[in-house]
Amino acid sequence: MARIIIQRTASAIRGVPNPKYDHGNRFVADGVTSVHPVQYGERCQGNANCVPICPVQAKYDARRTLAKAFETGRVHVLYQAVAYRVECDRENGRVTAIHYKRYENPNSSEYTTGTARGTLFVLATNAVENARLLLGSDLPNTSGMIGRHLMDHPFTLAWALMPEVTGTMRGPLVTSGIGTFRKGDFRQRQSAFAVDIHNDGWGWATGSPKGEVEDAVDNKHKYGQELRQTLISRISRQLLLAFMCELLPEYSNRVTIDPRHKDKLGNYRPVISFNLPDYSRRTLAYTRKVSRVIFERLGAEDYTNYDPKDPAYFEFEGEGYVYKGGNHFSGTHIMGTTPFDSVVDRHLRCWDHQNLFLVGAGSMPTIGSSNTTLTIAALSFRLAEQMLKELNSHNLQVSNLQVSNLQASNLQAR
Ligand SMILES: Cc1cc2nc3c(=O)[nH]c(=O)nc-3n(C[C@H](O)[C@H](O)[C@H](O)COP(=O)(O)OP(=O)(O)OC[C@H]3O[C@@H](n4cnc5c(N)ncnc54)[C@H](O)[C@@H]3O)c2cc1C
Repeated sequence: MARIIIQRTASAIRGVPNPKYDHGNRFVADGVTSVHPVQYGERCQGNANCVPICPVQAKYDARRTLAKAFETGRVHVLYQAVAYRVECDRENGRVTAIHYKRYENPNSSEYTTGTARGTLFVLATNAVENARLLLGSDLPNTSGMIGRHLMDHPFTLAWALMPEVTGTMRGPLVTSGIGTFRKGDFRQRQSAFAVDIHNDGWGWATGSPKGEVEDAVDNKHKYGQELRQTLISRISRQLLLAFMCELLPEYSNRVTIDPRHKDKLGNYRPVISFNLPDYSRRTLAYTRKVSRVIFERLGAEDYTNYDPKDPAYFEFEGEGYVYKGGNHFSGTHIMGTTPFDSVVDRHLRCWDHQNLFLVGAGSMPTIGSSNTTLTIAALSFRLAEQMLKELNSHNLQVSNLQVSNLQASNLQAR
C-alpha cells in the first residue's frame, strides 16, 4: 500500500474566544466539557456533537448569516411555507412567480396559498427538492436532464479498539483525515476516496456510546468511579475510519415524480432511482483492505462487521459490505456549456429560464471525494455578484424607462 499522509481537516470551528461575547465578560470554561445546555457563541468545548449544529454555536451555521441579513431590514422570511410550483411565461421562458403553501400544523393537511413575484428567482432547496420542484411545475426541460445524474458520496465505515486510551470524544467530530487516495492512476479502474479519522467513537457504526453504557450498568452493574473507568477504557479507545467514495454522474440515477406519490399538502414526493456502479463498489471493497492494514499496524483490535440484513448490504467478489449515504446530494441540474448538455450555465442560470438560478450541489456535474458545501458556498458568492450586476442594470433600465415616460408625458402636457 502507498505511504499514507494524515492531514488536518478544515473545520469552521471557533478555537479562540470572541471578546465581544457575553457583553465583554468573555467565556470562562466550566470544566473540560460544558454541562450547561446553552453557552452560546463561544469556543469549541469538545462536546463531540457538532453535527448538525454545535450545541454552543462554536461552529458556523446559516443562522449567523441570516441574523446579519435580518439586520438590513430587507429580508423577508416566510416560515412553514413550501414552494410547490414555479410559473413561467411560455413565450419568453422568464419565471413570473413561485407559488407556495403555508401550514400551521405539520400534522394537518390544511394550508393556505400564496405567490412570490420578483425580477430574479433563486431555487436553493437542495439537489433533490430543486429537481422535484422543477419537475412538478411541468417546465420546459430542453436537455431532459432535470433530476438526472443524482449523486451522493457512498461511505464505508471500519471500526477498531486502540491498544490504549486515545482521547476519543474530546473535540470536534473529525479533525484529520487521509487524502492519499483522492487522486491517482487507479481512478481508471475505481473511484477516488477520502478517509475521515473520527473523534466521536463508533457512534455512526454501532450507535455507541449507548450500548457501552447499558452494558456497563445493566450487565456489569458498574457505578461511580468504576463505571467512569469502564466507560473511559471502552469508549476513549474507539477508532472509527469513514471512507468517503466518489460517485460518477450516472444518467439513470435520478429524482423523478409520480402522481401516485404525494405528501400531506398534495405536493409531489421525490421518487429516487439509484444504483451503485461497480466503479464505486470496487473502491468500497478496497477500503476494507486499507482499514485492515491500518488497524494491524496500529495494533488495534478490528471490530468491523457488516450486517447482511442491512438494506445497503452488498457483496463484491465474494465478500459482503455495507455502505451509508453521505447526505451530499448533488447533480440533479448539472452545470454545462450548452442547453443540450446541461440544465444551468456557469452562473447557475437555467438555460430555459433567463431569470431563474438553481443554487446548490445539484449544479455540480461531478463530486470527486470532497464534501460539497464549500463548493456550494463558492458558487453562491459568484452567483450573488452576477445577480447584483443584473439587478443594477435592470434598475438602471427601469429608471431610464421612467425618465423617458416622464419626458413623454411632459411632451404631451405641452
Ligand atoms: C447529517 C448531515 C451531515 C452533514 N455533514 C456535512 C459536513 O460535515 N461537511 C459538509 O461540507 N457538508 C455536510 N453535510 C452536507 C450539507 O449539509 C449540505 O451540503 C448543505 O446543507 C447544502 O446546503 P443547501 O443550502 O444547498 O441546502 P440545504 O441546507 O438542504 O437547504 C435547503 C433549504 O430549503 C428548504 N426547502 C426544501 N424544499 C423546500 C420547498 N419546496 N419550499 C421551501 N423551502 C424548501 C429546506 O427546508 C432547507 O432549509 C451534511 C448533511 C447532513 C444531512
